[in-house]
Amino acid sequence: MRPKAVAEGVCQVSLRGVNVFLIEAGGGLVLVDTGLRNSPPRITESIYSLGHLPQDVAAIVVTHAHRDHVGGLAEMVRRTGAEVWMHPDDAALVRAGVWGRPLGPGRGRTRDALRRAMNALPEARHEPVAVVHELGDGDELPFDGLRALHTPGHTAGHLALLLPRGGGLLFVGDAASNMVHTGLSFVYEDLDEGRRSLEKLAALEFEAACFAHGRPIRKQASRRFRDLMTRLDAADAKAAGRAAAGAGPDAAAAADDSGER
Ligand SMILES: [Zn+2]
Ligand SMILES: [Zn+2]
Repeated sequence: MRPKAVAEGVCQVSLRGVNVFLIEAGGGLVLVDTGLRNSPPRITESIYSLGHLPQDVAAIVVTHAHRDHVGGLAEMVRRTGAEVWMHPDDAALVRAGVWGRPLGPGRGRTRDALRRAMNALPEARHEPVAVVHELGDGDELPFDGLRALHTPGHTAGHLALLLPRGGGLLFVGDAASNMVHTGLSFVYEDLDEGRRSLEKLAALEFEAACFAHGRPIRKQASRRFRDLMTRLDAADAKAAGRAAAGAGPDAAAAADDSGER
């Protein structure tokens, strides 16, 4: 199946529950994230359908070290020969073959149940992968001005990426999701830090946004991020008001669940 075009030279490959992206840049391809362990055949098929060969992939940029983003990494490195780019904090996990860190307390009952389930997963290790290039906040990659934005919270070494093309295209990773609505991701190592990272993204100007989980936004995407911050702040104020009125933490949690939309 041909991947879905999101913007000029940018395609979304929709895998089971997670998206990865192929960017045509500098005559080759940049792959953003690698999906799950069983994703490489599908990603490879997408590369061919764009008229490219696996060895045309010049770089694999990984947003963070969760298993739905690095599961296919070792195999995609073998298939493409490309070098891996990551933030050092999450690169340390990939080099050690460790799946992520424990997740912090979530706000809202749904998120907290998911966090507990994920933290209880057996700690299986994965094949360690060499990360050749470490990216810090604001670092530019040699691919059409693609820039790394350190956006910790979901994980300590989470990166979003900004491509200065067509008014700006943000690769959000798991800094936010766009399932039913643009909202927080389901789990965070540190939710407060994740909120600060989202605020940083909302202050930028970009026309389109691509999410690892959910549909892309093609127009006026940065405005949607600013609207989200307004909604989250309003939900916080409402929850704080209820808690102060003595309704208890359950009411605050319920208000936060509804605030995700
Ligand atoms: Zn994640
Ligand atoms: Zn994810």
